[in-house]
Amino acid sequence: MQRALIRELETIVGRPNLLTAPEELSCYSYDGTGRIFLPEAVALPGSAAEVAAILRLANRHGFAVVPRGAGTGMTGGSLPTAGGLVLATARMNRILEIDPENMIAVVEPGVVTGDLQAALKKHNLMYPPDPASLKFCTIGGNAAECAGGPSAVKYGVTRDYVIGLEIVLPTGEIMRTGVRTEKGVVGYDLIRLFVGSEGTLGIFTRLVLRTLPLPERKETYLLIFDSLARATGLVAGILAAGIRPCTLEYMDRTAIRVVRDHIPLPLPPETAALLLVEIDGSGVEVAGQQDLLVRYLREGDIAFRHAADDRERAEIWLARRSVSPAVFSLKPDKISEDVVVPRSRIPDLVRFTEELAADLDLTILTFGHAGDGNIHVNIMLDRTDKREAEQGAAARAALFQFVVDLGGSLSGEHGIGLTKAEFVPLEIDANALKVMKNIKRMLDPNNILNPGKIFPGG
Ligand SMILES: Cc1cc2nc3c(=O)[nH]c(=O)nc-3n(C[C@H](O)[C@H](O)[C@H](O)COP(=O)(O)OP(=O)(O)OC[C@H]3O[C@@H](n4cnc5c(N)ncnc54)[C@H](O)[C@@H]3O)c2cc1C
Repeated sequence: MQRALIRELETIVGRPNLLTAPEELSCYSYDGTGRIFLPEAVALPGSAAEVAAILRLANRHGFAVVPRGAGTGMTGGSLPTAGGLVLATARMNRILEIDPENMIAVVEPGVVTGDLQAALKKHNLMYPPDPASLKFCTIGGNAAECAGGPSAVKYGVTRDYVIGLEIVLPTGEIMRTGVRTEKGVVGYDLIRLFVGSEGTLGIFTRLVLRTLPLPERKETYLLIFDSLARATGLVAGILAAGIRPCTLEYMDRTAIRVVRDHIPLPLPPETAALLLVEIDGSGVEVAGQQDLLVRYLREGDIAFRHAADDRERAEIWLARRSVSPAVFSLKPDKISEDVVVPRSRIPDLVRFTEELAADLDLTILTFGHAGDGNIHVNIMLDRTDKREAEQGAAARAALFQFVVDLGGSLSGEHGIGLTKAEFVPLEIDANALKVMKNIKRMLDPNNILNPGKIFPGG
């Protein structure tokens, strides 16, 4: 990037907020994928007007701009693959308003999700989307990826909570869309277009979010199975029985084993799978749901543990949250996918991954958000081993084809970004893909905003 351009960027954001030293650039060169692409500069704007000025400059000079929240993305969305400028939202991190009466919050994009949840708690409110990365990731990044988490089975994902947006369009105009009210149907629903657009259609500079009353009570159960098929087969049954869990998570045998290697988890040795079930709501609601669940489990002769207190609940959650880091005791690398299948087809998916692992001589484990069919499939490998790297790539391609054939989706929460772009045509109809590309072209005629993401071939 030429010196004159750097000086113009410095004028927009202020000198301390424009980074060009190699050691500073390297801090913005990676994300959750472990891939590295060095930007030419990093800008930390403080307002929508500064973001707009940067985008106008980028259009005049033809450099790429890549929005970045906390860089926890799992698909390379925040990586500057075409060089150019990383636009980090870290300075735009104010909670602008919490309105308990109307149950909304207005925030800047760099607010950390967990910080917003803690602030809302003081008003007896909750913001449900709860990605496991919530202590670090930002609301802007969540909206760009349409993030979800364990509570999605009952409460939905980010798109269910974003009701208003201020967006800087790729050509530098500032657009406001959406409402501050529970209802509103004027014009096209642009919120649903922009939420989940992975930083390719505009940069969020302000978000209006719905919130909900904080549930009074929560109860946690760990269901223990000696058969994987029995555990995965039960998921649809629990929901069909009228139980409305706020968490319905699953771990397979390998996931349990790697966790047990690190933390004590008192379980029978023959444990082949676990389901983590939580129920929340008012005292009366929870009592009714608990009765229903316990009766259902006893009738099905299913072993379970009920967390007696917060300490026991924390122990159970520690096990679930430890899966992702603990898998690296198996192999140094993983291909981590978050495919979605219809709930009733989870047993088919799990059986398929077991067969795939045996056929290709790989370790593949499955865990995650069984309640909404969003299963994390981790293909473990050592990338320096050529055979394993090739088998891993083959396993991933076969997995995606199988999921699409089941009527599922390539991603439930991590998005497409860079890593899955080549597989998008498997799921998206050719005409729908044409419409999507036309929308991108119309909003970003010079292709400066996060180029090379989502679409095969850029
Ligand atoms: C340990 C771990 C656990 C995780 N668990 C979950 C999980 O349970 N559920 C889940 O959904 N995800 C999970 N993720 C993935 C990740 O945390 C989410 O995708 C999150 O939403 C990314 O937020 P971020 O602020 O880090 O965004 P980044 O990684 O910085 O960016 C992600 C995308 O958002 C775009 N973007 C960022 N800010 C803006 C903005 N203001 N305007 C427009 N575009 C923007 C970027 O260009 C990029 O395309 C996990 C990741 C890790 C590392």
